[in-house]
Amino acid sequence: MNLSIPYHLENYIGGNFIGPLRGQFLDNINPATAAVYGQIPNSNQKDIAIAVTAAQKAFTEWSNTATEKRFVLLNKIADLIDENIDELALAETNDNGKPLWLSKAVDIKRASDNFRFFATAIMHFASESHSTTDKNAINYTLRQPIGVVGCISPWNLPLYLFTWKIAPALAAGNCVIAKPSEVTPVTSFLLGKICKAAGLPDGVLNIVHGDGPNCGEAIVKHPDIKAISFTGSTRAGESIASIAAPMFKKLSLELGGKNPNIIFNDCDWPKMLQETIRSSFGNQGQICLCGSRILIEKAAYENFKKHFVELTKKLTVGDPLEPTSKQGAIVSKVHFEKIMRCIQTAKDEGGTILCGGNAVQLTGRCANGYFIEPTIIEGLNQQCKTNQEEIFGPVVTIQPFDTEEEALQLANATNYGLAATIWTQDISKANRLAAKVQSGIIWINCWLVRDLRTPFGGMKNSGVGREGGWEALKFFTEQKNVCIQF
Ligand code: NAD
Repeated sequence: MNLSIPYHLENYIGGNFIGPLRGQFLDNINPATAAVYGQIPNSNQKDIAIAVTAAQKAFTEWSNTATEKRFVLLNKIADLIDENIDELALAETNDNGKPLWLSKAVDIKRASDNFRFFATAIMHFASESHSTTDKNAINYTLRQPIGVVGCISPWNLPLYLFTWKIAPALAAGNCVIAKPSEVTPVTSFLLGKICKAAGLPDGVLNIVHGDGPNCGEAIVKHPDIKAISFTGSTRAGESIASIAAPMFKKLSLELGGKNPNIIFNDCDWPKMLQETIRSSFGNQGQICLCGSRILIEKAAYENFKKHFVELTKKLTVGDPLEPTSKQGAIVSKVHFEKIMRCIQTAKDEGGTILCGGNAVQLTGRCANGYFIEPTIIEGLNQQCKTNQEEIFGPVVTIQPFDTEEEALQLANATNYGLAATIWTQDISKANRLAAKVQSGIIWINCWLVRDLRTPFGGMKNSGVGREGGWEALKFFTEQKNVCIQF
């Protein structure tokens, strides 16, 4: 199929590709080269209004479409994503700066997995009935699609997280207004072409591009969009909640993190080191699940530091198109500058940079790109800004602890609660800690081992609600209990 990328991207509304009504565009920049290579619509409430009208028009038919037919259509979309994995992976890398091998192995693969998973899940989705025998009654629960729902996603895993929301919403029979990040819009634009080619009826999925204040907020404010599934920063989540809560919208908020890795001396060292490198610097540290505060038992501290620094220094920062590059570009100039400011703050707070700490100057094609060395910092206390605020880049701190109690206290000492890892061969200790660490997701002796059926989400300022498996299908349906007496 034709997945060519026009210089001016268009919105996908009611099955048509159209420009923004007020004619305003934003630059699309390749962060590895700093070159503007396209323009994306900066849509506003007028574009959202026509998208909602198109979605409402499509809803009656789509919500009454047989589950089997939705299953076939969503699988067809998954097949087309797989067939076009090379074009999609290249587009993701040019937009985001992540290594091409990573886009292909993780991002695009997961996008088709998401469609396949929820296509299958909806075929097995069932509801409850309760027999109220003493009153000669039976209750059964309907789970009906909500109507028109909004999905807003970030730039770090662009197509992966966009489809993670859209697939369950569509599978459950909703019509969707979806907005990708304005920083990484291209693969979601291409998804519109794929959905059209797969035969998804017009208006069922509408993809509208633009920034947060103009386009994202218009989705949140629209009175006929009844549920919002959002992944992004805690700051934007707070603003969305303040608008949506008084309108009584259903809300799923997947927000930021400041995740601890708790490492005991009795762990499997080679595996722990290999996974800690991944969980620290994978995707340039721009994964919400990355561990950014590494807590190490004192007896293991010096040994860990030596090996961790050695391995980190071997990570090649380079052109994302080169297969040898382990680390690609930071997603944008704005984010690059934010991370560099955070490194300066860590120095001002008295931190010692053990490795990294600098921008990387590449040559050739990437001479103007936004690259940062993977950075390890020690000597900071838990209360400092560096250990409290999300950096979302290739920057981690290491801190020693004496006892299990101290490890727990340090792990829980932030306002966030998304994910944690625990490394020890003592399974009783691991499970004891897992019960007490305030995070929605805990990995024991592993990291980012995903099963799409499990509840995914955070506690505290990391969010509200859970995605994944039945949780997602429950979120995108409205329950209605019916009671019959006989
Ligand atoms: P962001 O909050 O700036 O933007 C996310 C999306 O929301 C974008 O599409 C943006 O245009 C839109 N947006 C911004 N302000 C908005 C507003 N007021 N109303 C409506 N929409 C708005 O986040 P980002 O910088 O794109 O992504 C990085 C953040 O996402 C990090 O904090 C990271 O931890 C978080 N994240 C969380 C998860 C998770 O599952 N918990 C996963 C990935 C990323």
